[in-house]
Amino acid sequence: MIRRWLSKIMYGRYGIDMLSITILIAAVFLSLIGQLTQQIALVLISYIPLWYVIYRTLSRQTQKRYAENQKFLKLTANLRNWTSKKWFRIKDSRYHRYFKCPTCNQTLRVPKGKGKIEITCPKCKTRFTKKV
Ligand SMILES: [Zn+2]
Repeated sequence: MIRRWLSKIMYGRYGIDMLSITILIAAVFLSLIGQLTQQIALVLISYIPLWYVIYRTLSRQTQKRYAENQKFLKLTANLRNWTSKKWFRIKDSRYHRYFKCPTCNQTLRVPKGKGKIEITCPKCKTRFTKKV
């Protein structure tokens, strides 16, 4: 029932995307800070991005909204790439250690728990010993 009603309302409308989700998270964050520091102005300001997200989600100009999202994804590509790399490293740190080659600064990933090992840089062939 609700689902049918929702799909009727959302018909021809843009819906949610990464840009909207990001704005939404920022708005909730802003509102939380406002509530914690008891800054009412901040809480009120946080409604602006919230309304913007609702406007985008219900927008019928899907091409325009799509283009906005693509622009946003392009602008944040480096940051998202960097974050996911860091995140992978944190998860991977249980099984691997990371070193920088002393000669060429290349990042090297070696298995953990093997004791003292000799590492050969695949880029410049420099050899160095590390405990892993
Ligand atoms: Zn190297």
